Amino acid sequence: MIYRKYGKTGKQVSIVGFGGMRFKNIDDREECVRMVIEAAEGGINYFDTAPGYFGTKSEEVFGEAFRELQRRKIPFYCATKTSKSDEKSIRQEVEQQLKRLNIDAIDFYHIWCIITLDEWYRRKRNGVIETLIKLKEEGLIRHICVSSHLIGDQVKEVLSEEAIEGILLGYSVFNFSLREPALEEVAKRNLGCVVMNPLGGGIIPQNPELFEFVKTKKDESVVEASLRFLFAHPSITSALVGFGERDEIKQALNAVNGYQGISQAEIERIKANTTEAFNELCTGCRYCDNCPEGIPVPKLMDAYNYKRLYGENKRVLDRLKWHWGISPEVAEKCQECGLCEEACTQHLPIIQRLKEIAEIGRENPNT
Ligand code: SF4
Ligand code: SF4
Repeated sequence: MIYRKYGKTGKQVSIVGFGGMRFKNIDDREECVRMVIEAAEGGINYFDTAPGYFGTKSEEVFGEAFRELQRRKIPFYCATKTSKSDEKSIRQEVEQQLKRLNIDAIDFYHIWCIITLDEWYRRKRNGVIETLIKLKEEGLIRHICVSSHLIGDQVKEVLSEEAIEGILLGYSVFNFSLREPALEEVAKRNLGCVVMNPLGGGIIPQNPELFEFVKTKKDESVVEASLRFLFAHPSITSALVGFGERDEIKQALNAVNGYQGISQAEIERIKANTTEAFNELCTGCRYCDNCPEGIPVPKLMDAYNYKRLYGENKRVLDRLKWHWGISPEVAEKCQECGLCEEACTQHLPIIQRLKEIAEIGRENPNT
């Protein structure tokens, strides 16, 4: 395993982290706990969860695994989050999290999911920073971090907050251009930087033929190559992979074990090969799954990805029919209230895409 300094915190974090948001079967508790332990045995020491991943079940899985890791004296760091902003609610949440996680202090505590600057200012007005500083002084959390889906220069505004020691942000081989300003700021301020969605929420492993260009060695898989592309970035501390099953842990460990650096010329070649179509892909995070009309927005946006990736309407219909088992007509129910767009971590034009999907459905009534 390769370890990197997490900013100025003095912590050394594994270059691959374990994201607890994509367990394939969260109700198979024993298997999920086993996965966490196996990852730690392989040298992964950064474990990220949240109070809303499968309700509280993800934190509970980590809690069980952490008890075992402590018993065996295997070192680990725990990262979790809060979307609360007032002192009373945050305190209550932290106390519950510490119990669920079976630890005395949370190593990296994140102000969770900042999608707009308005949201950032709202939480600041409610006192989130002062509260987290107090909790840090009391020893209940160790480092104050933020998880953000802001793009471009907006992230700089958040990172200018003195108390922030690290950031969790989305970054992958296909959306790096949107997040590059954030990484420049990370380097300037010497912060920790963990990247989520390094495999584009599954887009890369599900469409390997489109990402062949990322490979720099004949014998590496597209997944390994995509992770190594991130390892090569000096400002990235750790790539957080949302593991679904054990095999994926092995692949990630292989990516680390076979990593020998990537030349600047190769990096430039890879960047030059990422096409316009890769911008604005849905990463399947499901934050928009709150439609008052009951429209399954994440499923429809996943299907729309295939239009951007392959430029074919039929692919959208096939994905809806064979993978999700839904009809494009469901998109017609949209009342354009905008709730889903406000929640979208990738700032996607969801309403427009729903209109296109409905149109594709009307044009192909018998598909
Ligand atoms: S804009 Fe349409 S799809 Fe989005 S939440 Fe509102 S009704 Fe649902
Ligand atoms: S549409 Fe946006 S919020 Fe919804 S799943 Fe995709 S990326 Fe996430």
